[in-house]
Amino acid sequence: MQLNSLKDLYVEQLRDLYSAETQLVDALPKMAQAASSTDLKKAFQNHLDETRTQKQRLEQIFSEIGTSPEGETCKAMEGLIKEGEQVIQANGDPKVKDAALIAAAQRVEHYEMAGYGTVRTYANELGFSNAKSLLQRTLDEEGNADKKLNSLAEGGIFSTGINEKAMAR
Ligand code: FE
Ligand code: ZN
Ligand code: FE
Ligand code: FE
Repeated sequence: MQLNSLKDLYVEQLRDLYSAETQLVDALPKMAQAASSTDLKKAFQNHLDETRTQKQRLEQIFSEIGTSPEGETCKAMEGLIKEGEQVIQANGDPKVKDAALIAAAQRVEHYEMAGYGTVRTYANELGFSNAKSLLQRTLDEEGNADKKLNSLAEGGIFSTGINEKAMAR
């Protein structure tokens, strides 16, 4: 890895995120399939659509700076997805499994939020204003996905949370 400038670091960080999103396009359908709550299933499917768009945004950013998005593997996302797969394969109560899927998915969203916050800031400092706004859009989506998972776990005035359902056995 050659890190001589903030631009080098920016490209490296973007490639890491591109690898992470690529892995998630494969993983999210499995998470959706493993979920038993229809709301949780929908949340995963909806975030799968967003994730495909996020991948395209990164492709657009790479094409604007004339470099390839390939060349890196996000090891952290490999690990987070492995943990998710352990949940997918687990036996037991489906409601507890749903709570565990949320726990795994929120780790993923927080990892992405950290990554996108960083590259958004670099894009701003490097003067890539279009990239900055594309990255901010993705950062907002990751934040909203995390909030959605929170509300499914905790419930609200009109709905029982998945955590409470998992408790009541
Ligand atoms: Fe994402
Ligand atoms: Zn990564
Ligand atoms: Fe990483
Ligand atoms: Fe995400």
